[in-house]
Amino acid sequence: MMNIAGIERFDSLEKGRGLRVTRPFKVGELLFSCPAFSYVLSVRERGFYCEFCFTRKENLARCGKCKKAFYCNAKCQKGDWSNHKLECSAMNAFGDHWCPSDLTRLVARILNKKMQKERSASEVILPVQDMQSHVEDEDNEKREMTEVDIAALYRFYGKHLEMPEHKDLLTIFSQVSCNGFTIEDDELSHMGTAVYPDMALINHSCLPSVIVTYKGSTAEVRAVQDMKPGEELLITYIDLLYPTDDRNIRLRESYYFCCDCQECKYKSMDKAKLKVQKRSDPIEPDIINNMLRYAKKTIREFRAFKSLLEMCEHSLEHMGGVFADTNVYMLHMMYQAMGVCLCLTDPYGAVRYGEKIIKLYSQLYPPYSLNVSSLYLKLGRLYMTLDRKTAALSIFKKAMAIMEVTHGKDHLYLTKLRKELTQR
Ligand SMILES: [Zn+2]
Ligand SMILES: [Zn+2]
Ligand SMILES: [Zn+2]
Repeated sequence: MMNIAGIERFDSLEKGRGLRVTRPFKVGELLFSCPAFSYVLSVRERGFYCEFCFTRKENLARCGKCKKAFYCNAKCQKGDWSNHKLECSAMNAFGDHWCPSDLTRLVARILNKKMQKERSASEVILPVQDMQSHVEDEDNEKREMTEVDIAALYRFYGKHLEMPEHKDLLTIFSQVSCNGFTIEDDELSHMGTAVYPDMALINHSCLPSVIVTYKGSTAEVRAVQDMKPGEELLITYIDLLYPTDDRNIRLRESYYFCCDCQECKYKSMDKAKLKVQKRSDPIEPDIINNMLRYAKKTIREFRAFKSLLEMCEHSLEHMGGVFADTNVYMLHMMYQAMGVCLCLTDPYGAVRYGEKIIKLYSQLYPPYSLNVSSLYLKLGRLYMTLDRKTAALSIFKKAMAIMEVTHGKDHLYLTKLRKELTQR
């Protein structure tokens, strides 16, 4: 069997499959890098990044046929053609009705690649078809969503792909939703989605030993703890900010298991994470529970839209199907949208919140966290727009200290940052 130096696969009764190290690794050391088996740039990011190499730059060249895909140059366009040909003519034919989900697009690319049959460089330890699936654990709602995706796959990609049987499609969709990775940039904004079969064996812990970052579409796995031979590679599948119960609800809903790491056992951070106001007469547990429910409901509603502007635009579009523009309910939402747009140019307000958040983030997240480094970067860039260069410099340094471990000292993000700082 082929191997990745310093890493081995294990199968155990209690933990199932996983990866562990066979030699020591130091904090910040690269364990391995894994090219994507398949990947796809989000539709929303079209025009900002090259579809093939994920380089961000201005003046990308457009595909002459569909005018919707963007590339650095002819070489990148050629490299992407085996995937883009699945969409290029369909996007033209369907026009505005072309709307497969990112998951469907990724599955189409996987099916396309599987027609080649030979094992790829991302399947050294695990072939793509051996990734875990959870079809039997899915509830009706999840199943219905998959059926919608499968219908879209037939509709938009039927011409170019040999479709497997329905039950095999269910398996592939389940595998990709449980094992897919989102490719994120240095500020953690979502660029695309990908599958990395070899990395699919890495289990979850709320006290991760490794972190995944990206160079283009290639994933890199680095140690964020010193590791001794035999220690397991553990990443986090979820945002670690939330208390133990919330984390496990999220893990159960998306990945069908509960975590039994030390943090989930002893819940040492939960007290700080669920802290209530100190008063002379303590707040009733009922009031606290009601407030918790309210908070979670608000987060859910907000998440459904990602931003207030999106919420305004969505409601305008929805109501606009029936109401005319002069309708007062339309006017109300337009007024709100204008307010949100004005707020978006309020860097002072953003800095005020950012400074409050970062203090708590650095206490509540593990020492090497991308959530923390990305917030340092955002805050630093805000300071720059406000011309507060000393503050910017000191906060960029904090971001870089984390990123040297998580991204490696010579990552493009770091060289760019250093260049930016010396130019000032
Ligand atoms: Zn490119
Ligand atoms: Zn095209
Ligand atoms: Zn845990």
